[in-house]
Amino acid sequence: MSAVRSLRKLGRAALLGTAPRGGLPNALEHVAQAHRRHHPGADLDALSRAYVLAESSHRGQMRKSGEPYITHPLAVTLILAELGAETTTLTASLLHDTVEDTELTLDQVRAEFGEEVAYLVDGVTKLEKVDYGAAAESETFRKMLLATGNDVRVMSIKLADRLHNMRTLGVMRPEKQARIAKVTRDVLIPLAERLGVQALKTELEDLVFEILHPEEHRRTDVLIRAHREAPDPLEELAEAVRGVLREARVGAEVLIRPRHHLSVHRYRLKRGQLGPCDFGRLLILVGEEADCYAVLGELHTCFTPLISEFKDFIAVPKFNLYQSLHTAFADSSGRVAEVLVRTHRMHRVAEAGVIALGDPHRTDGADDAEADRDTDGERADPTRPGWLSRLLEWQSHAPDPDTFWAELRDDLAQDREITVFVAEPGSTADSATLHLPAGATCVDAAYARHGADGHRCVGARVDGRLTTLATVLRDGDAVQLLMAAEGGASGPSPDWLEHARTPAARLAIRRWLEAQPEEPAGGTRAPEPQAVEPAADEPPRDDREGARTESAAVAEGLPERPVRLARCCTPVPPDPVIGFAVRGGAVTAHRDGCASVARMAASGRDPVPVRWRASARASCRVTLRAEAFGRPHLLADLTETIAVQGAAVLYAAVEPPRQQRVRHTYTLRLEDAAELPALMRAMREVPGVYDVIRAAQPAL
Ligand code: MN
Repeated sequence: MSAVRSLRKLGRAALLGTAPRGGLPNALEHVAQAHRRHHPGADLDALSRAYVLAESSHRGQMRKSGEPYITHPLAVTLILAELGAETTTLTASLLHDTVEDTELTLDQVRAEFGEEVAYLVDGVTKLEKVDYGAAAESETFRKMLLATGNDVRVMSIKLADRLHNMRTLGVMRPEKQARIAKVTRDVLIPLAERLGVQALKTELEDLVFEILHPEEHRRTDVLIRAHREAPDPLEELAEAVRGVLREARVGAEVLIRPRHHLSVHRYRLKRGQLGPCDFGRLLILVGEEADCYAVLGELHTCFTPLISEFKDFIAVPKFNLYQSLHTAFADSSGRVAEVLVRTHRMHRVAEAGVIALGDPHRTDGADDAEADRDTDGERADPTRPGWLSRLLEWQSHAPDPDTFWAELRDDLAQDREITVFVAEPGSTADSATLHLPAGATCVDAAYARHGADGHRCVGARVDGRLTTLATVLRDGDAVQLLMAAEGGASGPSPDWLEHARTPAARLAIRRWLEAQPEEPAGGTRAPEPQAVEPAADEPPRDDREGARTESAAVAEGLPERPVRLARCCTPVPPDPVIGFAVRGGAVTAHRDGCASVARMAASGRDPVPVRWRASARASCRVTLRAEAFGRPHLLADLTETIAVQGAAVLYAAVEPPRQQRVRHTYTLRLEDAAELPALMRAMREVPGVYDVIRAAQPAL
């Protein structure tokens, strides 16, 4: 049973404490017991005083549930005590809402409990605003990381605080529940994962799952209950393993570790259907690291191992300190068990992550088994794991909170996996599930599903809505891939590379592009677009363009060189641009991310930094792609809108409609690049148009 799961009961019991003992307030009894289990010699005096002060400060305040407010800090502290947090964290945890919500000041906390406790309380007070201070989420989050960066124990308290608030969320309005659940999903769960606090993470996941996906949660719950009614076949497998290990004289504890609801749900999506062995895993706990491998040897000898499931997170620990061996085996009747093998110490770290690391300020190694930890990199400073240092480094460079926020989310998403469902229209095959890295797009889904045949993908629907292939998929999305007929002369365009996150997709696209005849690579996309609306009053090619007036951009350090804006990607201020010197002394500026940039860099050409002139009220060329549902007069309406916005059409191409979908590509001249967002907005408002994007390739 997970440590935290047992806390629900204790949370209530904590308030019903019996007679005082040794001066300890009744209500603190369970906290003290839990704390002593992990830290037998702990001095409970500060805890007692903190409780008394918190209780008197919050007296008269009620939680929304009607319970006295003190029940909340008490429950939060119990969660942390169960996970093995040290005394200072628990002291601060009892006081964590006092400075925010009561008359008590930070100075009073400092005078009474010292600098360290005051520092933690102050950190949590700042974090508190993340939940409810909607004004500037990103800015607050930045503060939150700053607070955490100095001491990760602040985040431990925050996570426990969120867990208790999530447990008691039922009293809130449904919209508020959903809003809080989403922040928990997007920020706190990834942080719990990063900090390695598995016990908090899994419970938070289930609470979020229940709020945001009540129907799936209910269905999963029904499955789990039904499973519990019958004897668990894993019990037989566990017994077989115990026998094998006894015979081999390997001392080990063999337990069954039930999957939490979300894990069962995901596993069901992955497997289609669950067998009776799929509701849990065997957890084998041993004394020494060497015993882990001894256990593995026995399992792989006496049963049939599923080698593909074997992972060694002992030799290569995860970023968040997690260590274990993972494997799976089948017994003689073909029943498969997944297995985790770890030492007791690894187990504690797996459950409690940084919370189990003890007092980061104690350097004398007195904190029980943690002294041997100080030698290896990321683990040497538990207050500041490596990823956190990287984040703080970023945040000092990020130009604004929003950029920082976006980067942070990306970083948190990095190690996560999403599951999507794919089905082809008209296909008789059942829908399949795909596991993709977070951030994957429809392009990735196409290649994951079809291998090199992903080239034939011409569009996608996500949750029934037609969308661009660049769309980033989210966990649980239902994706319908629209495929061109087999043998059709279709193929990926270079901008797919910008949208492909998985190596498999990127490799396939590169290979295809390299096999194509020379430039322009984008033009090979078939069926061949039909050029329409030939450039009315402009010459079809203007080789002096970009050089005929003062260039809109200037090459750093080479102000005399004319800068031309590349035709392939038509950069517009304020796009980030990269230059390359070309024959004749000019510099061509490409959009950052243009396929040509990668090609030039790969062929060893040195980039030249280029910046836009501040005065750049430059006329510019831009290529836009409009994705729309086909309808009569669409083309006329679009070109009219473009004209009304003051832009001139230089080239236009319309691809033949597919699946009622049409793609128009326009290369336009704009008198002022600053008008571009307004133009794109106006085009999006044309009925039938569902997206307008900057294209990576010009209209032919
Ligand atoms: Mn709180």
